[in-house]
Amino acid sequence: MIDFELTRKDRELLEAIRREALVARSYARHYDENEHEFPPDELPEAKDFPSVFSLFAGRGKEDTGMGVISMLLTAGQTWGDYSVRMRRGKGGLGNAALRAAGTPAQQEKWKDLTLAMAITEPGCGSDPSAVQTTAVLDGEEWVLNGEKIFVTTGCRADGVVVWATVDKAAGRAGIKSFLVEKGTPGFIVAHKEKKLGIRADDTAAYVFKDCRIPRGNLLGGEEAIPKAGSGGFRGVMKTFNMTRPAVAAIGLGIAEAALDFTRDQLREAGVEVDYGAGIGGQSALVRRFQRLEALYEAAMLTVLHAAWLSDHGKPNNTEASIAKAKGGSAVREITQGCIEILGPLGVSREHLLEKWFRDVRITDIYEGTGQIQRLIIARDILGYSSSELR
Ligand SMILES: Cc1cc2nc3c(=O)[nH]c(=O)nc-3n(C[C@H](O)[C@H](O)[C@H](O)COP(=O)(O)OP(=O)(O)OC[C@H]3O[C@@H](n4cnc5c(N)ncnc54)[C@H](O)[C@@H]3O)c2cc1C
Repeated sequence: MIDFELTRKDRELLEAIRREALVARSYARHYDENEHEFPPDELPEAKDFPSVFSLFAGRGKEDTGMGVISMLLTAGQTWGDYSVRMRRGKGGLGNAALRAAGTPAQQEKWKDLTLAMAITEPGCGSDPSAVQTTAVLDGEEWVLNGEKIFVTTGCRADGVVVWATVDKAAGRAGIKSFLVEKGTPGFIVAHKEKKLGIRADDTAAYVFKDCRIPRGNLLGGEEAIPKAGSGGFRGVMKTFNMTRPAVAAIGLGIAEAALDFTRDQLREAGVEVDYGAGIGGQSALVRRFQRLEALYEAAMLTVLHAAWLSDHGKPNNTEASIAKAKGGSAVREITQGCIEILGPLGVSREHLLEKWFRDVRITDIYEGTGQIQRLIIARDILGYSSSELR
């Protein structure tokens, strides 16, 4: 039976995260207005707060599954701010790819690195089979050439999992992922991207110019190339089953902040959101607000469901995409709705609501747009392959 009831220990953990998040929020505007002045890895206040890892100690079987609690913790952090954290954890999307597709030896070798993941190119986004970056085997080295854009954690990362084709004629089957460490000659961080939202986040563009890496940096290893689930396309795509619900949770944390702010502002204006009043006893404005709250709840349940399936070792490909598709559209509707309810307060830079509206936009873009999630869901439900339904 699916049960999201939290134990006392889990509730304390989430409350602790919210206390940290409020401190992080006090830095949010500064780093939004000073794009590329990245927030520190640790805020000055960190010494006053116990590390989340210490709060995790002693969690047992009776506590909520790791997937579900991670989603709630993620949302709790972004409720404070998307980019500013009390302490920045190690790891990026590339680490999830390494876990999904690397051999045990590769996972061990690179486990301490923070890894970005670079798929997107100027001419390739939603359809990763169009990757133009090439990898050519030359003796004991792969030689990479190409360009990657919008790489999250691109500046901070110690290295990157980069998608390149070893055989353009082979389409998807020719695409492999390679680990390239920073400092490798020919691996250039070309520039930092300027963005609409999540402006304090580190997003970079890369160039690979005759970049030579050891033969063993092919994720999954060469002996695994012909097998499904290796460092090839399907293997690395598995990464997203774990990360897509988390992307939705990120956006929902921000949307919850917008709802809380709006509820507080309504209260200050003398408008109580009364959940006991019947449909005829509410103003249209309050009913609209309650619909936004219900949308938040529905979207969060899809996230927790996808995480719960993963916690129980069950397939969650469709549910991960449902969570991301639902979350991505819900957070836009919620933040836009809050702005409309509050009017000038919603767009004033004196407050963070306009920033939250900009910050949530990414939820529906990276790791597969909303349209692409709907394609995946349709394929899964109707039993079509990616070439039959595209
Ligand atoms: C802040 C930020 C961070 C990012 N981080 C990373 C990262 O770390 N690593 C990385 O590799 N990439 C990253 N990206 C890139 C992101 O994953 C891509 O922008 C995204 O996949 C969409 O690709 P595209 O922009 O090329 O759009 P396109 O693929 O050109 O799509 C344009 C539009 O057409 C729609 N569309 C495309 N194909 C279809 C279809 N078959 N059916 C219906 N609609 C379709 C799309 O949904 C979209 O609305 C990041 C982007 C941003 C903005």
